[in-house]
Amino acid sequence: MKRAIYIPFDQLHREYGALKGADPKNDLVVMVESQSMIKGADWHRERLFFLISSARHFAQSLRDEGFDVHYIKATNTVAGLQEIKKKFPKIEFIAAEQSSYRLSRSLTDFGVSFIENDFFLTPRALFASWAGLQKSYLMENFYRKQRVRLNVLMEGATPIGGQWNFDKDNRLPPPKNYTWPDYLVHTRDEIDRDVATELKMEPSQTWATTRDGALAQLKYFIKEHFEKFGPYEDAMALDSWALHHSLLSPYLNNGLLHASEVIDAACKSFYKGKVPIESAEAFVRQIIGWREYINGMYWFLGEDYRNHNQLNANRSLLPLFTDPAKTEMNCVRSIVTDLKERAWVHHIPRLMVLSNLALVTGTNPQEFLDWMRREFIDATDWVMVPNVIGMAVHADGGLLMSKPYAAGGAYISRMSNYCKGCQYNPKLRVGEDACPFTTLYWDFLDRHQETFVKNHRMSQQVYGLKRLSDLDELKHRAQEVLSGLEKGEI
Ligand SMILES: Cc1cc2nc3c(=O)[nH]c(=O)nc-3n(C[C@H](O)[C@H](O)[C@H](O)COP(=O)(O)OP(=O)(O)OC[C@H]3O[C@@H](n4cnc5c(N)ncnc54)[C@H](O)[C@@H]3O)c2cc1C
Ligand code: SF4
Repeated sequence: MKRAIYIPFDQLHREYGALKGADPKNDLVVMVESQSMIKGADWHRERLFFLISSARHFAQSLRDEGFDVHYIKATNTVAGLQEIKKKFPKIEFIAAEQSSYRLSRSLTDFGVSFIENDFFLTPRALFASWAGLQKSYLMENFYRKQRVRLNVLMEGATPIGGQWNFDKDNRLPPPKNYTWPDYLVHTRDEIDRDVATELKMEPSQTWATTRDGALAQLKYFIKEHFEKFGPYEDAMALDSWALHHSLLSPYLNNGLLHASEVIDAACKSFYKGKVPIESAEAFVRQIIGWREYINGMYWFLGEDYRNHNQLNANRSLLPLFTDPAKTEMNCVRSIVTDLKERAWVHHIPRLMVLSNLALVTGTNPQEFLDWMRREFIDATDWVMVPNVIGMAVHADGGLLMSKPYAAGGAYISRMSNYCKGCQYNPKLRVGEDACPFTTLYWDFLDRHQETFVKNHRMSQQVYGLKRLSDLDELKHRAQEVLSGLEKGEI
């Protein structure tokens, strides 16, 4: 054997990364189940199950192809690689570039040679050359360049439909008297059952752990959900946990699917006339725009970016994030319950409910980041750090997003059906029945008015404070709400 190819648990694709062109006659494969990773945090069991079972299935598929696969359980990744080095002292270690700073460093120190990470559509250097020329890192500008560069939904130099963005046709609230299509159920096999037994858990049937299952999920999304993806993309509904979202992020992030496969399937469906442009464009924007932008920014902004706390937010994580019984807020209780069940909720509950709450309560960004990383099925460092520190809690002082995503109950009421069954009233900002989001939104603006009054996208909201005749009462109520949230009584 000439080469040992190291495959981390987020590069599980035969045709990309270090396995591209690999040959069972010359190459052995190393995969390491790191015990320090598994035991290092109180991970959501569904997440651990998904990552480990997918990796073991992938290892089996490589063995079936004739590869000598060394799937090692070791204290950490480097300890696993050392076992191979002992057995094959002269072997060369290769890997695709890793997706986190930490692993990149430890593999470099070990002496692994890297090839370019092609699990994304945008090489890191290309992204850096775009970002290096920007005054502000507006995703929309990056996205338009991607559409042209990758020739996605374009007619020559013009975007199909004559516009880059169809958001004004989307953003609908949840429909009334609507039947949501079913979600695909993934059956379990022996490998799954072994992993579940080791983890002492019963997995849901939400997530596939094989390439075939991930491809089935892609096909199912395109057939059953894609058409309505755009219009209801931002809605939240009590009668549907996923609406028309694709549920593809776990597979895109662990490598079972490649972004180009997802884009090809989406464009094929659009060109066959099966989906309107507002859904096709909205979905494509997520994959070639947001996903690539977030990964690019993770590498562009550097390792220290995760430590930003520009709003000096120092509150400890509230109990309702780990126990939905610790709140009477219908939206938060329902979302955290869903999260406990499947380790997933869609973008708007993540941003406009969970993160919004962390933002307006002044929760410490790093504690919130750690919690999100533990709980979500699709969480990895590159995607969580910019999404949380930049987009969700504005801890970077606006480097990524020009304004914070702070909102009162009116937004949640408009985009969901949570409020009808809630003991709080989204229209009220003071008094015992006031919606905590509404109270805390104004209190947040008040606390940070000096910072935000200078921001042209926020100044109008800050000036709105002047119109509040009950500001003192509101500030008093905000203190009651914050202390009630800390005690798990709001
Ligand atoms: C606070 C916060 C934390 C998040 N953490 C993660 C995370 O850990 N992992 C993750 O994959 N996504 C994360 N996202 C982005 C987004 O919420 C999820 O990608 C999406 O909800 C996954 O469900 P889906 O596959 O059904 O997505 P869809 O709504 O069907 O979108 C399609 C795809 O677009 C991509 N995408 C869309 N928005 C983003 C984004 N902001 N960043 C990266 N990819 C994006 C994803 O790959 C997703 O699968 C986070 C967003 C926020 C606000
Ligand atoms: S009233 Fe407020 S707390 Fe209750 S569901 Fe609506 S937004 Fe959430």
